[in-house]
Amino acid sequence: MIVMKFGGTSVANFEAITRTISIVESKLTSRPVVVVSALSKVTDLLYRIADAASAKDAKETASLLGQLRMRHINLAAELLEHSPSLKENAIGRVNEICDALDGIANAVCALGELSDRNKAIIISNGELLSSTVICFAMNAKGIRTNFIDARQMMITSNDYLKGEPIEEEICARVPAMVESAYSGADAVITQGFIGSNLDGEQTVLGRGGSDYSASLIGMAIEAEQIEIWTDVDGVRTADPRKVQNTLSLERISFEEAAEMAHFGAKVLHPLTIEPAVKKSIPIYVLNSMNPSGKGTAILRNELIEDGVKSVSFKESIRVINIFSMKMINTSGFLRRVFEIFSENKVSVDLISTSEANISVTVDASQKIDKVVEQLSEFADVIVDDDKAQVSVIGKNIVRLNGMLKKTFTPLRKCNVYMISQGASFVNISFVVDREELTEVVQELHRHLFEHPEELETF
Ligand code: ADP
Ligand code: ASP
Ligand code: MG
Repeated sequence: MIVMKFGGTSVANFEAITRTISIVESKLTSRPVVVVSALSKVTDLLYRIADAASAKDAKETASLLGQLRMRHINLAAELLEHSPSLKENAIGRVNEICDALDGIANAVCALGELSDRNKAIIISNGELLSSTVICFAMNAKGIRTNFIDARQMMITSNDYLKGEPIEEEICARVPAMVESAYSGADAVITQGFIGSNLDGEQTVLGRGGSDYSASLIGMAIEAEQIEIWTDVDGVRTADPRKVQNTLSLERISFEEAAEMAHFGAKVLHPLTIEPAVKKSIPIYVLNSMNPSGKGTAILRNELIEDGVKSVSFKESIRVINIFSMKMINTSGFLRRVFEIFSENKVSVDLISTSEANISVTVDASQKIDKVVEQLSEFADVIVDDDKAQVSVIGKNIVRLNGMLKKTFTPLRKCNVYMISQGASFVNISFVVDREELTEVVQELHRHLFEHPEELETF
């Protein structure tokens, strides 16, 4: 069995879904479990619906709900044009899902109160709608496809908006559900991103979480491989939206991919690699707009050569600088600091320390008010909001000759704030002013990948 995950752009509209169905059709002998995201931009739309409803903006809420419903009805009508009875059933199902959503959004709007629990219910609808329409479209193409409701197998903690998967539950439920859905079918389809807690209440895995769902399902069924179908030719040397002339990477290691994703490469959700590694399942990142392309294979570390693979970056970070004279010669100071981060569930990316100062970076999406308040009880705290983080990633780069020179020489004109060289030898990260990020990343990419010979002249 294989897992094939299709992201938002791969299921954006009639053309994309038609292409995606042909890709699945070409793999039926491998018994695919198809995992889909919401149609492109639909999750954003659902967030807007949640915001409008909680702001008691009934007009905006109704207008956005109408857009959501019409987009899926029109899509179903287009895809099922030649199968009238399937079309009627599909539109009926879309209407049922949208009616339930309207009910909850209107209730939120009347009260002007939005709990995380209700927000999770609202934003789950993108995947429910896309998988419903695509399941009908696959059947209309003659691919007998059964639908699995991911909420019955993707079991998570009670964190409604960022549920932590409970792997034992998932591994106990997924294989049986997939096996039974496969009876009399050529393929099965389910949703990425969504799940439920042990009480059956809806949860989601966090933005971009469909990759993580695919990997968890792959782990649970011990899939031969996990395919992540997206809108780029595999994993590249940098984000092509930021950097020109990026190169496609034929193969990278699990560790390199995990570091790239963790340090900002949006092509994979940061936790995607973990479940696959547990069962040593290769992951392929492929382009649904260019299905014959090779893409990128993510494989066991031993199969991958040393060397620089990518420049990743995080644009939205905060640097928290903690100053205290008490730190000097005091044991237990660091423990106290990091306990505060841990208690508030704020995860830290980079750390650097000097005699009376600790600086850490955190993702800007995390709420840090309480951390700052608690740290301020025994230290001076300054938060910088105008910085960005850059990481050079590749197997054993820290051991490569002249790597620090190669990394920092192109940056000689800008300020570099924190430098961290991971003990894993895979990652050199540092902080720069956000306004210089684009130039820094492009210069670094140029010198590391496009014109390494220019470095010799420095
Ligand atoms: P999907 O909707 O298929 O999950 P995403 O938008 O989440 O797609 O991820 C694909 C995007 O990731 C690409 O369009 C690209 O801009 C971005 N990206 C960031 N870093 C990289 C990288 N190193 N290689 C390839 N794509 C990257
Ligand atoms: N649809 C969800 C999101 O936009 C999950 C995903 O696409 O991976 O975040
Ligand atoms: Mg994604």
